[in-house]
Amino acid sequence: MPGTGQVYFVAGAGIAGLTLALALAKFGATVVVLERHPVISEFGAGLQISPNARHVLDQLGLDDAIAARSLEPTGIDIYPFGRPTPLVTLKLGQPMRERFGAPYVVMHRADLVDALYKATRRFANIDILFGVRSWDVVSHANGVTVSIDEAGGQTRTSRGRAFIGADGVHSHTRRTLLDGPPAQDGRRIAWRTLLPADSLAGQIALDRVSVLFAPTYHMVCYPLPHRGQVNIALFAKPVPGIAGKAQPLRQGTPDSPRIGAILQAAGDGWTPWPLFTVQAAEWHRGNIGLIGDAAHAMVPFQAQGAAMGIEDAAVLAPLLINTPRAEDALALYQQARQARVARVARTSATNGRIFHMSWPLTLARDLAITAQGGEGHMRRLDWLYGYAAHTQLARNLADRTSPQALGRTR
Ligand code: FAD
Repeated sequence: MPGTGQVYFVAGAGIAGLTLALALAKFGATVVVLERHPVISEFGAGLQISPNARHVLDQLGLDDAIAARSLEPTGIDIYPFGRPTPLVTLKLGQPMRERFGAPYVVMHRADLVDALYKATRRFANIDILFGVRSWDVVSHANGVTVSIDEAGGQTRTSRGRAFIGADGVHSHTRRTLLDGPPAQDGRRIAWRTLLPADSLAGQIALDRVSVLFAPTYHMVCYPLPHRGQVNIALFAKPVPGIAGKAQPLRQGTPDSPRIGAILQAAGDGWTPWPLFTVQAAEWHRGNIGLIGDAAHAMVPFQAQGAAMGIEDAAVLAPLLINTPRAEDALALYQQARQARVARVARTSATNGRIFHMSWPLTLARDLAITAQGGEGHMRRLDWLYGYAAHTQLARNLADRTSPQALGRTR
């Protein structure tokens, strides 16, 4: 089997890094994951996982774990400002399964990371080093040499085929090993909170996602029923001169009782999450590459950042396993992925501008959304949700029917 005996290093045990580790391990490769935190991180809040990402996760055996800890919303209600009924409801649920072959779900980021982590624990060929203090990588003709300062103070130096930075938006790999750009300020803050589901009864439907437009900001709410909570994110520009957690409260307005009720229920329980974007022209140098936010963090207004990291992993793993030189695999991966990711990032940024319009532009926007309707909106996103990153992964895994092809299980 081509992957057996190959060794890869991955920096970062987030969604992108763990997905890549799992995909590589399924081919029999040995993966060493370097994570700076002492344990799997539980930061973050809700995530929407669309079919393009879900296909990959299912391919890696996570379908049951995700189904147990996610909600498949029936739709997305889009509320104009100050009106009690939605402009439109985008249908999810069964129509999404029929159209794209996989469900669209919402879940807590920590639950997805936990499911990925537990899946890696079934592979003896994935070694996760927590609490790494620092590391250095040298790329040479046939691979990489990696020196790691481990949590206990010992240093290990090992060789492998490639080193992949999945170390998030402020990626050390991108900035120091690839001389890549720093992250750019996304000029918005995501204020996040989790509220008890019963505190919002009657305000939003508890079987679906609600998007609430307001002048210059918007809110996204969805239930996480297995936690008994609703995830709320309020996206707004920073308000100068207003202290931290008072900023979301400043957005309250008597014209929208629904928003007022949500803000009241949330009180000052918000966590600010400044948004950053990354535009890196090069996603690899020699045998050192980037995936996920490290390569291409984007604003979350199409709910696709994690999905792009998951797709990256599905595309990169079979290329690494099957291409004689890792450097060539990374070049092919960059070529295969950059245009799509750029299109998704552009769509997200455009959504941000549309969501945050002020009156009177909002009148034209709301008319256009109503005219397009739910079905028309979903048709326009066929290119996004119908992308099949998983097929190459599936084909390559199916070609390897020996027991080793499923990894060297613990
Ligand atoms: P991260 O999750 O940042 O993981 C990086 C990992 O690397 C971490 O574990 C970190 O500790 C580790 N690390 C960092 N530096 C080092 C180092 N030097 N050495 C070792 N380890 C290191 N995406 C969606 O698909 N759907 C959504 O609905 C969605 N909603 C969002 C809502 C908000 C408000 C925000 C802010 C983002 C949202 N996203 C969404 C985007 C998504 O959260 C990110 O794109 C995704 O989590 C990035 O995953 P990652 O693995 O690339 O990076």
